[in-house]
Amino acid sequence: MNIDHVIENFHTFNNFARNKINGGINRIAFSQPERLAALKFSMLCQKAGLDVYFDFFGNVIARREGKYPNLKPIVLGSHIDTVKDGGQYDGLLGVLGALEVVEYLNEHHIETDHPIIIIAFACEESTRFNEATLGSKYLTGKMTKNDMKSIQDNDGNVLYDIVAPLAQDMNGKTALFERNKIKAFLELHIEQGPILENNKKDIGIVTDIAAPHRFKLQIQGVTSHSGSTPMPMRRDALTTAAEIILKIESIGKTYHAQGIVTTVGYAQVYPNTMNAIPGEVTLLIDIRGKKQDIRERVVSEIKEQIELTVEARNLSHQLIDLGHDEPRSLNQQMANITEQSCINQNFTYRYMYSGAGHDAMNFAPICPTSMIFIPCKNGVSHSPEESVTPSQIEKGIQVMIDTTIELSKLDTTLV
Ligand SMILES: [Zn+2]
Repeated sequence: MNIDHVIENFHTFNNFARNKINGGINRIAFSQPERLAALKFSMLCQKAGLDVYFDFFGNVIARREGKYPNLKPIVLGSHIDTVKDGGQYDGLLGVLGALEVVEYLNEHHIETDHPIIIIAFACEESTRFNEATLGSKYLTGKMTKNDMKSIQDNDGNVLYDIVAPLAQDMNGKTALFERNKIKAFLELHIEQGPILENNKKDIGIVTDIAAPHRFKLQIQGVTSHSGSTPMPMRRDALTTAAEIILKIESIGKTYHAQGIVTTVGYAQVYPNTMNAIPGEVTLLIDIRGKKQDIRERVVSEIKEQIELTVEARNLSHQLIDLGHDEPRSLNQQMANITEQSCINQNFTYRYMYSGAGHDAMNFAPICPTSMIFIPCKNGVSHSPEESVTPSQIEKGIQVMIDTTIELSKLDTTLV
């Protein structure tokens, strides 16, 4: 494979999306830099001889024909969008990696039995619409055009109204594949955590993808004067919130070994001044796990603790369920194929689960699905500090090439 070419592609895509002040990459869903990147990717696909189109949601889908066009395709891909001031590799790695797989096959004149489809998903990050993996949800049928009419961005713009004017006329072309006819889906991604680096492993083979259950908690106390309200008479929403936050952390720690993480990442305080007792606090709570039953047990423990705490302090509250995704187990056979590639290439590897959600989790219910991770520096992601070396990228793509070639053989059967 041509790692210099891949690195050059990273520069091309990131250079016109970079915040000049802090170096962060900004390809927010359906922003101009994000759409330009999708267009650029579609052009590179065309150059590589692929049949390419945009679907209604703006996902770029490109097909390399196989020896037997009627066989189910192998689908490779990841997302083209980023968070605000994000990193250079989150998402883009799996997109450019998929393209490099095709370039490699072209260069080596490899005709695969099964067709290969590569995809750049739109809108994977929840930055703009507070919901993640929308592009792959649309593609796999989990979100319909109608659903888009009730999803809004942070400024109140309706998703459907943003997407529809951008939608391409497919010139009578039908989709290049059907969602219920996919042989396998494979996504290459940076780990976005410290486990591979700490364990000095080149490759992570993902067994499960954890998924969040999220809540909004509104705590109602009484706002009053910070000087004239005696301590026993206070109904302080912020100290109540503080107690709840610590309890949520402690429950997360208790279940840590079972793949649970709990976070309160957002707090809004009213009136938020020094001389008033806070009468109202809103928290956003994110609870993730790789097994649904354990995660839901944690959810009920947290709910119970919230109620107990609020009652003990004589306040009131409202807990709003913001929805959940299902954790997904990935395909063991595909993992074995990737493991064999690591052994053949002399790369170190480990099996692991993904704490973060990915486009792959939407494919897992409809076809055999797998993910390959590479380490990133200090496990940092969603930040300008996100950093990966060319050699780490090269190893990840090499394993993806090997896995794809194996998967695309007629006699590799998956269950
Ligand atoms: Zn990502």
